[in-house]
Amino acid sequence: MRRGNLFVISGPSGAGKGTLVARLLREVPDCWVSVSATTRSPREGEQEAVQYFFKSDEEFDALVKEDGLLEWATYADHRYGTPKSAVLGHIAQGEQVVLEIDVQGAFQVKDKLPEAHLVFIEPPSLIVLEERLRGRGTETDEVIASRMEAAQAELARKMEYDIRIVNDDLETATRQLVDYVNEKAEE
Ligand code: 5GP
Repeated sequence: MRRGNLFVISGPSGAGKGTLVARLLREVPDCWVSVSATTRSPREGEQEAVQYFFKSDEEFDALVKEDGLLEWATYADHRYGTPKSAVLGHIAQGEQVVLEIDVQGAFQVKDKLPEAHLVFIEPPSLIVLEERLRGRGTETDEVIASRMEAAQAELARKMEYDIRIVNDDLETATRQLVDYVNEKAEE
């Protein structure tokens, strides 16, 4: 059994974090991905407890109050947070725990757990990022504009991460992520 580790994966919405994390899960058997709580509404096809635990504002307030979240942040008008006990439990069981969270949350985690490894997923360019967001077909123009604004703020902090992976070619980016996780897990 390998030692448990925490990997925090951030990057602008549309950079391809979800796809990379899904591939990481297939390739690294002791990897576990945390499911966050959010106050945003489910997109078509999203299921409770699979992509997110979907919460009302009141339910989210209660989670914050009872100290149930390792971190939380407001992103594009909605709150998102990481359930604490599940994450700590899986690390203790020797798993490679992955959080797919925004930049604000990533630094909250690093403050609490300095041994966390911070991974930033970059789009090849802002133009490609906007095309990918539009290509999803699930977002309104207003939502896309707010996500592009958030993206610029996130990209401004990429140098504070332990590693940056440009998601231009999916195979190359997957390999870089898998190799990084395995390397840290073996240390
Ligand atoms: P989306 O609405 O596209 O699913 O997610 C929007 C942003 O919120 C993404 O950058 C995603 O990584 C981030 N996010 C998802 N879950 C969490 C969380 O638990 N905490 C924080 N801080 N950000 C999160």
